[in-house]
Amino acid sequence: MDETGKGKGETGKVIPARYQPPLPLDRLLLPVGAPGAGDHMELDVLIVGAGPAGLACAIELAHLARREHGDVNIGVLEKAEALGEHCLSGAVVNPRAFRELFPDLKDADFPFRGPVTKERVAFLTSRRAFTLPTPPTMHNAGNYVASLCEIVRWLGERAGALGVNGFTGFPAASLLVDGRRVAGVRTAAAGLDREGRPLSNYMAPNDLTAKVTALAEGTRGSLSQAWLEWQAVTSENPQIYALGVKEIWETKRPLDTIVHTLGWPVPTDAFGGSFMYPLEPNLVALGLVVGLDYRNAALDVHDLLQQMTLHPLFRQYLEGGEMVEWGAKTIPEGGYYAVPARRSGDGVVILGDSAGFVDVPSLKGIHYAIQSGILAARAIHAGLKAGDASAAPLAEYDRSVNASFIMKDLFRTRNMRLAFKDGFYAGGVKAALMTLTGGRFPGGKIPMEPDGEVERTLTSGASPGITPDGRLTFSKVDGVFKSGNATRDTIPVHLVIGKDVPVAVAEFYARMCPAGVYEVAQGALRVNAPNCVDCKATDVLGPRWTPREGGSGPKYKRM
Ligand SMILES: Cc1cc2nc3c(=O)[nH]c(=O)nc-3n(C[C@H](O)[C@H](O)[C@H](O)COP(=O)(O)OP(=O)(O)OC[C@H]3O[C@@H](n4cnc5c(N)ncnc54)[C@H](O)[C@@H]3O)c2cc1C
Ligand code: SF4
Repeated sequence: MDETGKGKGETGKVIPARYQPPLPLDRLLLPVGAPGAGDHMELDVLIVGAGPAGLACAIELAHLARREHGDVNIGVLEKAEALGEHCLSGAVVNPRAFRELFPDLKDADFPFRGPVTKERVAFLTSRRAFTLPTPPTMHNAGNYVASLCEIVRWLGERAGALGVNGFTGFPAASLLVDGRRVAGVRTAAAGLDREGRPLSNYMAPNDLTAKVTALAEGTRGSLSQAWLEWQAVTSENPQIYALGVKEIWETKRPLDTIVHTLGWPVPTDAFGGSFMYPLEPNLVALGLVVGLDYRNAALDVHDLLQQMTLHPLFRQYLEGGEMVEWGAKTIPEGGYYAVPARRSGDGVVILGDSAGFVDVPSLKGIHYAIQSGILAARAIHAGLKAGDASAAPLAEYDRSVNASFIMKDLFRTRNMRLAFKDGFYAGGVKAALMTLTGGRFPGGKIPMEPDGEVERTLTSGASPGITPDGRLTFSKVDGVFKSGNATRDTIPVHLVIGKDVPVAVAEFYARMCPAGVYEVAQGALRVNAPNCVDCKATDVLGPRWTPREGGSGPKYKRM
């Protein structure tokens, strides 16, 4: 029977990409000077996204300009209302790139909560935890536990002190292009009603033009995707993603070790694992990450995290404590073979997660993001000094990334995540052999398909999952509340929905979205767009995410 025509209890198959609308290039790419803008500002360098990548780029550029007594007008656009509010990570941080960005500072000066002193890797069954030897890729000696929100606020202060202009609450909605050159961005309008009509507080979009635009939008960047598609820049494998759902807990019982787990509650035909890190002995970050190539359409990462909190390993810490913050974000997981062949062009560079600089076996991206920002800044600085911001000088950024530890590290683990596409056990054996052979086994490249092309099994009437108790387990609505999301209810829908989405696919979206944005009501898809926390999972598997009014979305504090 066809995927859309199954009856209750019957199974069917669906390929999500069939219901996904194309990237809205007509909105994401505009000719420079297109009508509709309010103000216009001109900068030397415009950075989109105040995450670790974007802020490191701004800081290194300002350092270079100061050293040479030059003057560079740098602007950083950030869609969150305040710095760090849209940033979410684990996080255990490798300090290497911080040391390069701030050679005069010591590790103790960086905004880390503390060094990793003990670590444990465990394999979980539904009731038990078996300690495993820590795989070499997961060793964290010398690394630090941190909150990405805190790191970003600290980097923002340093950038501000160096004269960088920060514009928070301003999402870049479109790339402004001039021939093949990127000339800047247009921001999103604010103060529109649900139908897109201006309200009394309407603010027209602004145009910001620059000699170089650095795209540091993080995971699944919309403008980065648009540029790559427009310029037909490909990668050896398509980029693939995982969704991470995370909670911060104040606990009664202290934790003194970082914990990673494999196995339950992630099904064996999916790839994923959990982490528990102490920010303070009694303040714990807990998260579950699952690859978006999972096969069972009823899988729900938020729900699996709630099941996890009841497991004795976690419960012993969480019982009697309080869940104080909740959030979600995707991670680019494709690794070496999914990095775009070119991350630079005429007037543009792409940094950090937007370029896919993440090493999944070690769950690390922050120091790669920072390093890519540093290397981009050096190439931009050299180009500006030579009076040339065209593709030729900016290609030095690609060359320096290729020669750096970023691509060396990604090359070493190039097939590890990909090995898990055939399930946990086969993947585990292959990953162990890859570790033993320093990445040489099995040789070559394991080909992947985009997450949207992976066939899903639908079961109509599948179990609704856990019933939250508000103590150890929480609903998606509770989660969105704890994310600090207070987006205006009357905002226009920023999600581009495909045509004729069957009920079974709508149910798949409802399970996939950790924030409860999608619901099936009276046999149709209902969209609660203001709930969205910008995790971007939807953009990978379903309706397209587009930038919306500045300041919308979560307000993370310690994620
Ligand atoms: C659950 C989870 C756990 C992780 N654990 C770890 C870990 O333990 N250690 C580690 O090193 N890495 C970890 N990572 C990965 C790491 O967080 C990322 O690699 C890193 O944050 C990437 O930095 P970035 O600057 O590229 O992007 P981001 O940190 O995502 O920053 C991008 C910024 O751009 C802004 N932005 C996006 N689009 C626009 C727009 N159109 N206009 C204006 N602003 C925009 C966003 O709001 C955001 O502030 C984890 C990731 C997740 C999701
Ligand atoms: S609608 Fe928003 S919160 Fe839900 S999956 Fe998509 S990006 Fe994430």
